[in-house]
Amino acid sequence: MAVRRAAALDTRSLFAEYPFLAGAESLLAGERVSVRSLLEDASYARARAIGRARVLAAADDPRASRDLGEIAGAEADVRYLSFLFAQILLAASPSAAPLRRWAVAEAKRAHARLADVPAEELIEVARRLGFAMEVIEGERIAVPLVDYLRLAVPIREADFRLPRQDLDRGRVLIGRVRAARLVQEAIRLRLSLPVPLADDARDAVRGQERETLATLAARTPVPVARPGAGLGAIRPELFPPCIRKMQRMLQAGENLSHSGRFCLAAFLHRAGADFETIVDAYRGAPDFDEAVTRYQVEHITGHDGGRGYTPPECDTLRSHGLCFRDGDPSAVLPLDRERDERCFEPTLRHPLQYYRRRGGRLTEADAVVRPSSATGPEEGRGTPGAPGRSRSTGPRR
Ligand code: SF4
Repeated sequence: MAVRRAAALDTRSLFAEYPFLAGAESLLAGERVSVRSLLEDASYARARAIGRARVLAAADDPRASRDLGEIAGAEADVRYLSFLFAQILLAASPSAAPLRRWAVAEAKRAHARLADVPAEELIEVARRLGFAMEVIEGERIAVPLVDYLRLAVPIREADFRLPRQDLDRGRVLIGRVRAARLVQEAIRLRLSLPVPLADDARDAVRGQERETLATLAARTPVPVARPGAGLGAIRPELFPPCIRKMQRMLQAGENLSHSGRFCLAAFLHRAGADFETIVDAYRGAPDFDEAVTRYQVEHITGHDGGRGYTPPECDTLRSHGLCFRDGDPSAVLPLDRERDERCFEPTLRHPLQYYRRRGGRLTEADAVVRPSSATGPEEGRGTPGAPGRSRSTGPRR
């Protein structure tokens, strides 16, 4: 049976279809657009409306199963501006979760096309995203091993594991379907990075788009409980001061220590958070690396047949300077600045115990008090990698 393929795109259509590609700014033909004008100028009202639709649709449905008619019917430059507006909006969101959902949705939307385009278009998109692909014979595509690993590691499907691939002189040989899936991942990686916004620009977006951001926050469900954990909703408001401090540090882009990163992943897993929620917690880290984080979170949560490591006890956290029971003077909320009397109860020995005593539910009732040898290993040889941190950068404090 003949394989039907969409027609190849000219450059302008390519950029309208994939506005995240290097060179897409040429759609503006030299027109200078500032954040302020994109936010306020009446001539960009349509781009703003489509940008909001892009973001809100992703919050509702990160699988992008619904077509966005607004995008298809817009001119190429309006489509590009709507994309820029969506990026700015998401960069101003106080939470990283909407950006992640949007990156997934936009990548899936692009994939719906990529699955059916000529190989040249697929390869051109990959190339402009910084990944080399080459058609070698018929429908076979060669990908340099290093690019393959970068894109395939976050994909959890077993078919993408390296031992299952054909290798040829440092290249991985794959079919078009698999290549399109890798390009989807490349798009997701590109879009997961927030665009840098100056403080005054962020304030302007938050002021002008308050309603959209509030709607976005209400529609983005965070954090998400793990299917099958049977614990119901995660209760972040019941987390102990140490865990809340770790979350705040990462959200603020501060460098949380190795022990803190390990503790946070182990705690969230035991509280029933799903894999993506745990990965999300590290997105604000200054040295965040998507692939490494996924690998390390998988290791921490997959330990002991999926039971995961247990976070360290209070004494250990205290010795690492990670106990905040006396309050955090730098915190914005009064609740976080105050001393927490629950942490001074003589029988309290563990952050999970704190969570459970306040009504939070854990994956295993006996997870709270275990001999210290059974909890997560101390930092040093044999310590699981700390999520969020690339393998070779950043001080290991
Ligand atoms: S006493 Fe324990 S639970 Fe409370 S902040 Fe310190 S380490 Fe966390």
